[in-house]
Amino acid sequence: MAKKNKRVEQAEEICIGCGICVSICPVNNKVEKKNDDFNPDTAKLAIKVYSGKAFVDQDTCIKCGSCVKICPVDSLSLIEIPTEN
Ligand code: SF4
Ligand code: SF4
Repeated sequence: MAKKNKRVEQAEEICIGCGICVSICPVNNKVEKKNDDFNPDTAKLAIKVYSGKAFVDQDTCIKCGSCVKICPVDSLSLIEIPTEN
């Protein structure tokens, strides 16, 4: 699966900070299950909500698209990044 040439774009002005994306993200869920002392503020999550807006860590995100599908206001989109070849 080609994951490296995609990124999740976020329309910050549309996001309502509901956190649904954060709770359904499979990377976040895996991190949470693996760590008994899980702390959402310090854990390396793929998507987090800061100051009422969601932010994606592109390096941690696996571009699965789950957050894109579930966002109630269509704030997220999975886009292809053009490659050189
Ligand atoms: S990106 Fe969508 S699902 Fe995530 S917090 Fe914002 S509004 Fe909610
Ligand atoms: S696309 Fe990235 S941030 Fe969104 S649910 Fe999948 S791994 Fe999480």
